Amino acid sequence: MRSFSMIIGGKPMAAETTFDVLNPADGSLAGRAPQGSIADLDAAVAAAQAAFASWSKTGDAERRAACEAVAAKIGEHAEELAQLLTSEQGKPLNGQGSRFELGGAQAWAMHTASLPMEPKVLQDDNRGRVELHRKPMGVIGSITPWNWPLMIAVWHILPALRTGNTVVIKPSPYTPLSTLRMVELMNEVLPAGVLNVVTCDDVTVNLGAAMSAHPGIRKMVFTGSTATGRRVMASAAETLKRLTLELGGNDAGIVLPDVDPEEIAPALFWGAFINNGQTCAAMKRLYVHEDVHDAVCDALAAYAATVKVGSDDTAELGPVANRMQFDKVSGLVADAAAKGRVLAGGAPGEGLFFPPTLIAGLGDADPLVREEQFGPALPILSYSDVEDAIARANDSENGLGGSVWSKDIEAAKAVAMRLECGSVWINKHGAIQPNAPFGGVKQSGLGIEFGEEGLAEYTDIQTVLI
Ligand code: NAD
Repeated sequence: MRSFSMIIGGKPMAAETTFDVLNPADGSLAGRAPQGSIADLDAAVAAAQAAFASWSKTGDAERRAACEAVAAKIGEHAEELAQLLTSEQGKPLNGQGSRFELGGAQAWAMHTASLPMEPKVLQDDNRGRVELHRKPMGVIGSITPWNWPLMIAVWHILPALRTGNTVVIKPSPYTPLSTLRMVELMNEVLPAGVLNVVTCDDVTVNLGAAMSAHPGIRKMVFTGSTATGRRVMASAAETLKRLTLELGGNDAGIVLPDVDPEEIAPALFWGAFINNGQTCAAMKRLYVHEDVHDAVCDALAAYAATVKVGSDDTAELGPVANRMQFDKVSGLVADAAAKGRVLAGGAPGEGLFFPPTLIAGLGDADPLVREEQFGPALPILSYSDVEDAIARANDSENGLGGSVWSKDIEAAKAVAMRLECGSVWINKHGAIQPNAPFGGVKQSGLGIEFGEEGLAEYTDIQTVLI
């Protein structure tokens, strides 16, 4: 079994002990990750602070070239990283699985490398000149989840480096291996200390909590659950850290009565079941007009029956990524199956496999509708008045994404713009792209990622008035 090290100050750093990372497809050992300590975190922050002194002074062209080199590294090692990712996360290699994630990681890295970072002249006249400069902040602490670990790591790392900051990243204990290897590869083209990685199992030691409170870190970028995001925000208060929080979602889709159910069924299905539903901006509740409700249910169930779940090269969906999430989804589905009408799936499969599950006839207060299931189960709810559907969709503490489905794009857009969420799609769901700013409203987060708006979040503004 190959060994994995943390990377601190450009050097591999083993720990005294390791923790096991399991392959969710069969429970076998995917690898062992270093059990980092608070001393390792302190060393990583110190290395990032030391590297900041010179990295923050590099010119725009040099930083851009370094980010392009990082993107190229991801591309050169995409297959190796994809295999490693599948072994610890469970997503299939093909379809919208690991190879797709690596393609996304490289695309985001390239796009972020190309973003402009120029000062703005706000005024230049006989009363004076005012310039707005964007300056790097210092050490960025990055904490990532287990669902799209490499793509999300790139969303954190690249804008931080592009803007002249240095980084300490801590991946989820469920999926640390692919991040350890990706950071090792990135270090082949970055100066020592610019990008560091630490890992821990969260039980013996919780370095995420320590990072949020660390006085040497200027900003935290956190992607994960709303509950943990609140903790990060609370402990960041002591040192007034800047924050980007990308948190949970309970995205609603609204189907208007003019759709062709069979035509939209595949996109509806994948809007909800991409990565087994373990996607922040996946559709997690579907409201369908009563005129087409039964036909949409039938079309979705027929499509679900064609989707291949497994762990070979032909699989479109793999197992749920870990026991914790499997138990959560199993509990929500058992409750919903007793109250509603199961159209597909409805009960756990072998090991951590869970068939795509569709359940109609639930009420808005039922847990599968109310809570973020973050797994392969979609509740389908009927409505008669679109005003009622909008109100029900908005009746959530979350506000990450939403979608509206109709042949009439203007009618769909009018409904879409009344949804309380950061991104809204028409006739698709969850299709993010690097040039479209992404972030949650309400308790789905704070701040924005992607594009120039996302880049700006890694900078302090300095206004120069002459
Ligand atoms: P999680 O909150 O359990 O864990 C996220 C990370 O936080 C992990 O690295 C974990 O080790 C770390 N952590 C644990 N305790 C911590 C603490 N006290 N302080 C700081 N960090 C700590 O989330 P998860 O289960 O890994 O991911 C699933 C959740 O992430 C879902 O709610 C999903 O919607 C959300 N998510 C959001 C986005 C988005 O862009 N909005 C993207 C992906 C996932």
